[in-house]
Amino acid sequence: MTDQPMVRFDNVSKRYGPLTVLDGLNLDIMRGEKVSVIGPSGSGKTTVLRMLMTLEKINDGVIWVEGEPLTHMERNGKLVPADLAHVRRVRGKIGMVFQSFNLFPHMTAMQNCIEAPVTVLGMKRAEAEARAAELLGMVGLSQKKDHYPSQLSGGQQQRVAIARALAMRPKIMLFDEVTSALDPELVGEVLQVIRQIGREHDLTMLMVTHQMGFAREFSDRVCFFYQGKICEQGPPAELFGAPKNERTRQFLNAVL
Ligand code: ADP
Repeated sequence: MTDQPMVRFDNVSKRYGPLTVLDGLNLDIMRGEKVSVIGPSGSGKTTVLRMLMTLEKINDGVIWVEGEPLTHMERNGKLVPADLAHVRRVRGKIGMVFQSFNLFPHMTAMQNCIEAPVTVLGMKRAEAEARAAELLGMVGLSQKKDHYPSQLSGGQQQRVAIARALAMRPKIMLFDEVTSALDPELVGEVLQVIRQIGREHDLTMLMVTHQMGFAREFSDRVCFFYQGKICEQGPPAELFGAPKNERTRQFLNAVL
């Protein structure tokens, strides 16, 4: 049971018209594993996260979460496309943080963090508020809980977005270039929060990042994407220290 992957992409392909964005992706992510996805722009990194969040339909293959199909469901021993209720239930295990924060602008930090727990999970308001206060404290924003997004810096907004995702008690967290929209001096505070939640050993994390130093120091495994495929993957010390593939070497030379 313990060696069952938390997430499995089984031969997953994604096409937009004639453009193949992901080409037969196979990727297993184990419980508690921290995986970074790196690669050139357009190589399909964000699409991987969006498919897992069911924001994009897949064309071929099956995505599994904790041994259960996400994109499909079993009917009479066969896998058929999943219905909405099934997708919602399985996707409930996954939280995502986006590059552009995506906070509700008309709600305070606290309200942003309790909205979904109350309306989607049916949590009691007081319980949701207590949990949100704890999470806002964890991301260093206790003092800002009644502020609206427009009253917060980008780094603070992103930390609220992380607290909001965690409020849904996900088992898997997806981070999509979460520091890319930030001024350089605000990147560190967001990475520090990610490091901190990474200490939750059970939480599985998959992140697309341009922060090579962070990927190297934080991840258990790094996947280098090139043209819709995993071109090379391995522990960060190996992938960054001694890349085997010429494409990986070229990419790392260009960005490091
Ligand atoms: P990355 O995150 O590695 O930069 P993406 O996963 O965002 O790459 O995109 C992979 C490819 O898919 C790109 O060529 C992009 O232009 C294309 N793409 C992404 N979304 C769409 C869409 N909705 N319609 C058409 N093409 C898309």
